[in-house]
Amino acid sequence: MALLQISEPGESTAPHQHRLAVGIDLGTTNSLVATVRNSIPCVLADAAGRNLLPSVVHYTSKGADLVGHEALARASQDPYNTIASVKRFMGRGLVDAQAVAAGQYLFATMNQASSIENASVQEGAVKIKTAAGEKSPVEISAEILRILRQRAESFLGGDLVGAVVTVPAYFDEAQRQATKDAARLAGLNVLRLLNEPTAAAIAYGLDNKAEGIYAIYDLGGGTFDISILKLSKGIFEVLSTGGDSALGGDDFDKALYEWVCAQTALDHLTPQSLRALLISCKDAKEKLSSQQQAFIPIAKTDGTTAEIAVDRQTFQTITQLLVTKTMKPVRKAMRDAGLTVADIKGVVMVGGATRMPHVREAVEAFFKQPPLTDIDPDQVVAIGAAIQANALAGNKSHEHDWLLLDVVALSLGVETMGGLIERIINRNSSIPCAMAQDFTTFQDGQTAMSIHVVQGERELAKDCRSLARFELHGIPPMPAGAARIRITFQVDADGLLTVTALEQTTGVQAQVNVKPSYGLSDQEITRILQDGFASSQTDMAARALAEQQVDADRLIQATRSALQADSNLLSKEELNSIHTHLQHLIAVRQTADALALKQAIKTLAQATENFAAIRMNAAVRHALAGRNVNEII
Ligand code: AMP
Repeated sequence: MALLQISEPGESTAPHQHRLAVGIDLGTTNSLVATVRNSIPCVLADAAGRNLLPSVVHYTSKGADLVGHEALARASQDPYNTIASVKRFMGRGLVDAQAVAAGQYLFATMNQASSIENASVQEGAVKIKTAAGEKSPVEISAEILRILRQRAESFLGGDLVGAVVTVPAYFDEAQRQATKDAARLAGLNVLRLLNEPTAAAIAYGLDNKAEGIYAIYDLGGGTFDISILKLSKGIFEVLSTGGDSALGGDDFDKALYEWVCAQTALDHLTPQSLRALLISCKDAKEKLSSQQQAFIPIAKTDGTTAEIAVDRQTFQTITQLLVTKTMKPVRKAMRDAGLTVADIKGVVMVGGATRMPHVREAVEAFFKQPPLTDIDPDQVVAIGAAIQANALAGNKSHEHDWLLLDVVALSLGVETMGGLIERIINRNSSIPCAMAQDFTTFQDGQTAMSIHVVQGERELAKDCRSLARFELHGIPPMPAGAARIRITFQVDADGLLTVTALEQTTGVQAQVNVKPSYGLSDQEITRILQDGFASSQTDMAARALAEQQVDADRLIQATRSALQADSNLLSKEELNSIHTHLQHLIAVRQTADALALKQAIKTLAQATENFAAIRMNAAVRHALAGRNVNEII
């Protein structure tokens, strides 16, 4: 992510000329909408005065009936039709999604675990079963965005010119495209997508300050992100990013919940009372950021209610491991950027969970300076997005405004012989951008060329994300190496890629907009490529198989290491079941049957889901060992 300064902020235009634009932070747990009014950025509240909209949607047979707080309130009664944390599945295939779900605990996110059991892949995308039929993460996110659009329009009293929607810096093309599609589906004109850490930096006005390197520490509900940004000559450049997509404020709730269970031996709670207890733990966690003590109500099996007290010190001891865990990606991001703590000029805190005092202390101790916490950490990204939207809508279009430029998050390239990658656009290149490179034929008389567009930093195509595979036809027969095929990669302001191939002797040319694999059906590819490109069913099948094989290898490897580390946590039956599914997957991996492979991956992922949860619980229990309920009730 980079910001290019083209001028200084100007005066806002007269109210009647003001073009209504908003910034939207589409979060995993909560979403917000903000705007700039009379030169002051502000977050827009709902009719009840609430700024945060929980990113939760409830469905009935007629469609989405509740979004936000009301949907959240329905979660315990109707978990299967209440979808939360859908951002984790944006632009993901099912296997990715299962990997996400396996890293989660089961009941904290309502329908998340059950959604995955009920998920299917259609045209490469995850669909989640609801009472209203199967819904894609794009459709579900669109419901959230629609509410925010309506909130903004009723507050501002007119139609929006457009919106800037934020995405994590590490989001790949598929995830960015999915976000953009969701916004369009919600009736929003997307002025641009903006990386979340850059939005936070803009909110603090760092772009107006002295040049330097800044760290953005973002601990949200379900994810942790660290970004190191460098501001130089008006450009914010992402030096490195890192994080943990399965670590967030929810894990602190869960740790406290585990502690309460360990104190009170509450083994047989109903799913409803489990959820209620988890919500109480979340409340207590939030209170402990400003109070020294909180109380957690517990519904007992005999119908009575007890209360358990927890003080800040105890909570911090229970959760210190989680705080420490965030510092590992921080150290790695610093290493990746080749920096020491002395190089960091400022640290911005983002995400509700950074209100916890021990999180702030750990960040301050690491960076040897107090982090910036003046702006509400829940609002800082939406505010930055609003400032950017205001500028893009033309409300500050004096010659001294800032123009922000993104960078490509991951390198883009093509696969060459031997499954190797030729990078065409390097990671962190400012966008919009275009780069071209010449390629040639491999065999005498070759008249077509298969082009495999990939994204990633690894050297082998099999280790990168496959974005598209298509063929260029009409190359005149020539000796091997004589043809000149110029392949041009063009990335627009939203990070979306167009690939053009031109055979230079004949001028045969074709172009493809790479809509990444999350929504790319064979039919769509054929349609997109019909002018000059012909998609090949066999190639598509080969790609599907290769992708399944890579996913299978990943899962086999992960399962083996988990078994090696923790098989003692499993009963004999569970261990046998995992072994059987693992052996089955290994056997199917040797065949070229993509369908059977997909099924075998699915069953092993399901068979190991509980194992993942047990491993996590064991880790938490280990941290809590030796405490007694009588000490605190
Ligand atoms: P976000 O995804 O940025 O909205 O962050 C949501 C997370 O922040 C949830 O886990 C909340 O429980 C947590 N959070 C919000 N307020 C507080 C607080 N005062 N203290 C601790 N955690 C909080």
